[in-house]
Amino acid sequence: MNAPAKDLHARSDWTRAEIADLFALPFPELMFRAATVHRTHFDPSQVQISQLLSIKTGGCPEDCGYCTQSVHNKTGLKATKLMEVEAVVAEARAAKATGVSRFCMGAAWRNPKEKDLDQVCAMVEGVKALGMETCVTLGMLTSDQATRLKEAGLDYYNHNLDTSPEYYRHVITTRTYQDRLDTLEAVRDAGINVCCGGIVGMGENLEDRVGLIHALATLPVHPESVPINLLVGTGTPAAETSPKLPNLEFVRTIAVARITMPKSMVRLSAGREDMSDEAQALCFMAGANSIFYGPKLLTTPNPVADTDRALFAKLGITPMPLD
Ligand code: SF4
Repeated sequence: MNAPAKDLHARSDWTRAEIADLFALPFPELMFRAATVHRTHFDPSQVQISQLLSIKTGGCPEDCGYCTQSVHNKTGLKATKLMEVEAVVAEARAAKATGVSRFCMGAAWRNPKEKDLDQVCAMVEGVKALGMETCVTLGMLTSDQATRLKEAGLDYYNHNLDTSPEYYRHVITTRTYQDRLDTLEAVRDAGINVCCGGIVGMGENLEDRVGLIHALATLPVHPESVPINLLVGTGTPAAETSPKLPNLEFVRTIAVARITMPKSMVRLSAGREDMSDEAQALCFMAGANSIFYGPKLLTTPNPVADTDRALFAKLGITPMPLD
């Protein structure tokens, strides 16, 4: 049970009522059920480690209310050009030396232009040649673009659903929920693994967290990776207007994701910087088995690798080896 399960066949007919019932379980019962499911498919003492690099920061025309990279959100972030291929591969090489097995590259675009896609494909080829898994997040994709990325050797494409279909219009207006589902379908059809999750703590209610998990767990094939983010986005409309989500509610969301998508990697993503060791330990006990290493997640602060290594040592957790 060392490696992530590749056969993702699991039930995709969850009802909202069933998912709401899981969220409503007494906390110890929910944790027990999630931990039991986790052990059925994974070694609970192993956590997969990814690193995320922003290869093109800021200046994004989309209006995602949680994002510091949107031109609609006055966060003072300076936009940059797309990085050179050699610089990206050098970052990946350094990450590999610290035990990182998957290198994720993010560009703040609505969708990639053809010329830029050529450059990203070269990055994917370069990182792949280091023996690492590759992941990119570039916005909306056509089927042809997904095929080109697959041919370059891309392993994972990240594209989040963000929140429930009902709450979505409060967060983003420049693309639809269906646009997101269409990109996910193009990625899946191209034979690329899907990384898809969401963000909680954006002022949504419990029913919306139920709706987010329901949308993810009823995809025809579950995403291989399910990142669950806790809103950070300092200076964004969502961060300025949303009350902080209690950590225990975040842990509940992780646990319900684990139970409903038993064979997926559930990634503890943005928000770890503000979590205590104890809160992160609860997330691992609830079934989270993937994290991002590195001081930044695109533009969001993240614990430095030394802090994570110390936490792993305290918890007896080891990095999950590549399949
Ligand atoms: S989340 Fe992505 S698409 Fe939305 S504004 Fe930020 S960079 Fe652009």
